[in-house]
Amino acid sequence: MNRAAILAVGSELLTPSRVDTNSLFITEQLNLLGVEVAFKTIVGDDRDELATVLRHALGRVDVVICCGGLGPTDDDVTREVVAGVMRRALLEDESITARIRKRFESRGMQMPEINRRQAMVPVGALVLDNTNGTAPGLWIEDGARAVALLPGPPRELKPMMERLVQGPLKARTGHQVLGRRVIRITGRSESHTEEAVRSLYAEWTAMATPISATILASLGQIELHLSARAGSHETVAAVLGEATRDVSGVLGLDVYSTDGRPLEAVLGDLLVARALRVAVAESCTGGLVTSRLTDVPGSSQYVDRAVVAYANDAKVSLLGVPQALIDQHGAVSEPVAVAMATGIRTRAKVDIGVGVTGIAGPGGGSPEKPVGTVAIAAATAAATRSRLFRFVGEREMVKFQASQAALDMVRRMLLQ
Ligand code: AMP
Ligand code: MG
Repeated sequence: MNRAAILAVGSELLTPSRVDTNSLFITEQLNLLGVEVAFKTIVGDDRDELATVLRHALGRVDVVICCGGLGPTDDDVTREVVAGVMRRALLEDESITARIRKRFESRGMQMPEINRRQAMVPVGALVLDNTNGTAPGLWIEDGARAVALLPGPPRELKPMMERLVQGPLKARTGHQVLGRRVIRITGRSESHTEEAVRSLYAEWTAMATPISATILASLGQIELHLSARAGSHETVAAVLGEATRDVSGVLGLDVYSTDGRPLEAVLGDLLVARALRVAVAESCTGGLVTSRLTDVPGSSQYVDRAVVAYANDAKVSLLGVPQALIDQHGAVSEPVAVAMATGIRTRAKVDIGVGVTGIAGPGGGSPEKPVGTVAIAAATAAATRSRLFRFVGEREMVKFQASQAALDMVRRMLLQ
């Protein structure tokens, strides 16, 4: 048994205001057993829709995990629909009724009669105790297939899902482990990344423990997701570790993280390891670079200060950028970014200064310097580095990409 489907049941999940998060947790738990999620579906509290997707799922996978719709009210139909599709009669389990009754009484209340619906159990099902609520979960085996029913509230579902993984699910799976690694990359496009690593794919799929890979582009970075299935955590970790080294071998410094750390944490660790301190002068990012640096616990070890110098005046008076430099090159230029970086560095008396100046848009662009043009510089006592970037997208996208490029510039400067 190694293919699963998840059915998230609840009409609220089909509105713009609620997100299905249970399926992420369920996926994580299934992966621990080497079970892969083949697909997941969100369906309202609707008998026909639910019966249709459940029949489809049962025809496609070994295990179906349903969550939600186990409440006592009429709109919660999961239990009845699953029993119907699996052709099991529903019988009241008096011990469950007694337990629910006690739960109410312990709070000084009488159990409403409708709660007896939560004690209805399909014949042959295993009952999963709910330590955090009234609705028990159910585990129904049907030949090679199995269906789990779990309540929607995450704090009720989580301990039950964990117990399923320890017990009946584990007993039915091949005792395998599915592991993942996320490799984060900067300075390359999705297709350039793919081009560089493509030759590795063939090697990976031919290995005794094959690795599958997916490339995802997001703002300011590319992610390469690797996954492998094997008999033990150790084997999975070894195989994925080797593949990760393959990728780093091909992409070099463009790989900034192989263990899930965001860029600001990677840079933070580098600064701590080298006992270096940093100060930042920001214009178009409005403090975002510093905000991200200080998102990392312990950043007081290496963040000294930051100045948001938005107006040209501020760049001159707070950072000592020569007015003549601004007049000659414009505020958005590499020389001005360098002057901002060296200005903040010398004023703060720290090891590294960073300067960011750009046009976030939507206004302020020109033919030579369109919206998205950002000059970034990093300065140490020994060297300065600068680059003029052209980012695409809206204002927040430009600001984020600029912050990413600034953090990355410092990282590369330290590593090269
Ligand atoms: P239930 O009565 O079992 O259908 O679940 C009731 C509550 O559980 C909902 O109001 C949600 O707050 C939460 N819930 C249900 N399904 C999900 C889901 N897939 N992800 C996160 N929360 C959920
Ligand atoms: Mg519901």
